[in-house]
Amino acid sequence: MTPTREPAVSARLRLEDLSHRYLRTGEPALSGLSLAVEPGELIAFLGPSGCGKTTALKVIAGLLRPTSGDVLVNGRSVLGVPPEKRGAAMVFQKPLLFPHMSVEANVGFGLRMRNVSRDQTGRRVETTLRQVRMEGFADRRPDELSGGQQQRVALARALITEPRVLLLDEPLSALDANLREEMRGLVKEVQREGGYTTVFVTHDQEEAVVLADRIALLFEGRLQMYDKPQAFYDRPASRRVAEFFGATNFIRGRARNGAVETPLGHLKLARKAPPGDVILTIRPEAVRLEDGENSFPAHVTGVAYLGTRVACSLDAAGVKLRVAMPPHARPREGEEVTARLPAGSLWVLEESP
Ligand code: ATP
Repeated sequence: MTPTREPAVSARLRLEDLSHRYLRTGEPALSGLSLAVEPGELIAFLGPSGCGKTTALKVIAGLLRPTSGDVLVNGRSVLGVPPEKRGAAMVFQKPLLFPHMSVEANVGFGLRMRNVSRDQTGRRVETTLRQVRMEGFADRRPDELSGGQQQRVALARALITEPRVLLLDEPLSALDANLREEMRGLVKEVQREGGYTTVFVTHDQEEAVVLADRIALLFEGRLQMYDKPQAFYDRPASRRVAEFFGATNFIRGRARNGAVETPLGHLKLARKAPPGDVILTIRPEAVRLEDGENSFPAHVTGVAYLGTRVACSLDAAGVKLRVAMPPHARPREGEEVTARLPAGSLWVLEESP
């Protein structure tokens, strides 16, 4: 996606074959991570706890020197550049504000350290507080603010330095669900308006999908897939990747002449499958209860009403399938139905079954 305003500051970030091994630990925290972030793009490092997300962020910020590999900003290595000169600003899970200083003083701190004049600092603080919708709070102390407001101030403190790269380490995970959603909107808006090149760390798959232009999924320090959010649902790189994005369907089969022989019958695909044993995957939302191409008889084995959708389990020739249906759908347990797997929604996983 293109930022709404051409950023004066944002940069192209490139990670080249980054690896990191902490002293005294056996397994590397990061192994051969390579990817590029375009100017103004927001990417998310996503993955389970301990997969190396924070390590990667610290390496970009300059807080950690990688065991090997390189970090390039606008084509130049920044490994020899100290953190404060990298033009990167970081926001952490906890706001880490100076408790005895006002919001205004907290936000202006970075500029005062750079000897920017009082007047100019004042003006920039005002603009930045407006950016994070915190105008009117300038005189408050951090303990007079809610958690969400404190995190807005922390964001303002990072933005005021006009970072070339904005690094956000789970900044919303300490907030409650409603506030988190509101703050996601704000982060996205501010990032778009300013066109900041941004790396956002999260272990929350929904958060990554909502916020990111592209997601870098890491397992055990290795990049599993780097693509647009939709691709993780439509064309996952592996079974593990598909599973990380929620319970889904896998069907074993044998590809011949581009189609796949399965216990459910002969399934056609939108693209030809390579010959041999394969695993097909299809999201529960894509399974239809209707007649047509790739349809077969099935038996409803379970129905659960989940508020926004109905989760239905099917058994077809011994294959268990999950189906997500709209909330008004009322399949009955024990019912015989016809299920269909649309060719365009079936994806062949690139791994041996
Ligand atoms: P989380 O989501 O829990 O914050 P993460 O994906 O950010 O996890 P990292 O903090 O990057 O993961 O840690 C990656 C691996 O490196 C983990 O196995 C962790 O135990 C290890 N690790 C992190 N920091 C250190 C350290 N200072 N010394 C030794 N090992 C460390």
